[in-house]
This record gives sequence, structure tokens and C-alpha cells, in this order.
Amino acid sequence: MPELPEVETVRRGLAPVMEGRRLLRVIQRRPDLRWPLPERFAERLTGRTVERLGRRSKYLLADLDGGETLIMHLGMSGRMLVQTPGAEAALLGEFAHAAGGDGAHDHVVFEVEGGARIVFNDARRFGAMDLQPTEALHAHRLLASLGPEPLGNGFSGAYLAGRFAGRTTSVKAALLDQRIVAGLGNIYVCEALHRAGIAPRRQAGSISKARIEGLAAAIRETLAEAIEAGGSSLRDYRRADGELGYFQHAWRVYGREDEPCRREGCRGTVRRAVQTGRSSFWCPVCQR
Ligand code: ZN
Repeated sequence: MPELPEVETVRRGLAPVMEGRRLLRVIQRRPDLRWPLPERFAERLTGRTVERLGRRSKYLLADLDGGETLIMHLGMSGRMLVQTPGAEAALLGEFAHAAGGDGAHDHVVFEVEGGARIVFNDARRFGAMDLQPTEALHAHRLLASLGPEPLGNGFSGAYLAGRFAGRTTSVKAALLDQRIVAGLGNIYVCEALHRAGIAPRRQAGSISKARIEGLAAAIRETLAEAIEAGGSSLRDYRRADGELGYFQHAWRVYGREDEPCRREGCRGTVRRAVQTGRSSFWCPVCQR
């Protein structure tokens, strides 16, 4: 499932072909994705100019010149295919490497001024699109209760310490709670906790302020590095067949059960346990 860095990578791939461009034609192939698409969806988008392509948590936000914002979520398997005249197609999103390109799951197509064709493909249809007045964007049901962006000014060690205070749930569960911090999923929580040396089962409210400062920094570093890696893959994608390699990160713990810990000097072995229905990977030697 795409997390914040993957969605940011998709945003950076789409921005050059969408921002400042008019949507000449929008093709809607089904009435719904995860939820029904808005009334007259294609009609309301056609002829609009994308003034800015932003992101909030895992949502792409295309501000349109008519005063509405197109909200897009990739869900579990959604991806964006960008076709530009005279260039190889580029796939942005999870499972991009396994793209079939048969069109069976091409649910929405944007034909953009300048010649780009952007195809939203989503085999499992957990993705979503909606339209909302831009001035009331923050009140949209999918966005209203989101916590601060982990890479934004509203997120810090002091903020996190305030939210963790008195909390008896695990730090893992607290970080996955989108109301506390937006955009983190299982992979990056495992990675950030390893970087911070904090065990995923530790009670959120029992962690010292100094260690929470370290955790906030670890979250920022983990995300920033992943976005940087995604950017590298974006620069590379045009040369080949549209594969986007940003899921081949060298994770420190995620997916590495029984393998040696990657912290320098640590002789621990990565463990896996199911915690609130999801796998946690951690090193019991250097994470406490
Ligand atoms: Zn270790």
C-alpha cells in the first residue's frame, strides 16, 4: 500500500504534466471506485485548469480553477500511468513493476493540454476520487480528522510528546493513528522505530521526552530518505519500460525476519510479530 513517500513521488511525477494545464477531456469508465464518484464527475473536470497539485497525507489534491479540488487516493493497488507524446509511458504507484497495461482496470483517464494522457489504473478498486470546494477542503470527511504532516511545521518532538502523554497503547499503534500523525503506514513506522531504537510494543506514554524527540527526527529522516529514493527512481524511469523502482528500498527491518540487524555494531536478529493485525519487524537488541 502506498504510504506518504510513494504518494509524494507520484505527485512529483504528475506535477510537470498537470500543473498549469487544462484538462481537455476526462474519461470515466465506471460509476465508482471504492465509493461512488461524484455526480457529473467527468463533466465538472473537463475544461478546468489544474492550478496546483498538492498532497495531504496520502491524498493527492489537484486545485482547479473553478474553485473545486480533485481529491485522489491510490488505495491499495492504484497507480498512475503517464503517457506523453514521443516518450515511453511512465507508471507511478505501487505494483508499477507488475503493470499489465491491458486497460481492463483503467478507470479514469485525463487528457491534458500539452499532450499528456494520465491513466488511473486500480485493479482492487480501493482507490478513491472526489470533488470538494477548495475553501472547504479541510472539512472533507477524508481529511477533517487528519493529524499534522510529519514533514510539516506542525509536527515535532514536543507535539508528539503531548499526544503520547498518558497513552497506554503501543507506540506502534499510536504512530499508525492518522489523527496523531498523517500518512504513516506499517512500513515507515517499523523503519522509524528501528532508527529511533524504540521497540514497537512499548507503551507510548512511557517513553521519555528526549527519546520522543529522537523518534520525531527519525520519522522525518526515514520519510525524507524514501522521498529522495523515489525522486531518483523518477529520474530514471523514462529510460526503461516504465518500471518505477521505489519499492526496492533497502529496508532496515521491514520484511527482514530472522535476518541480521542493520544497525552498525548491533548483533541482533530481526523479529516479526503481529500487532493489532499487522506485522511488526524489530530488533530486540537495539530497540527498547
Ligand atoms: Zn539491532
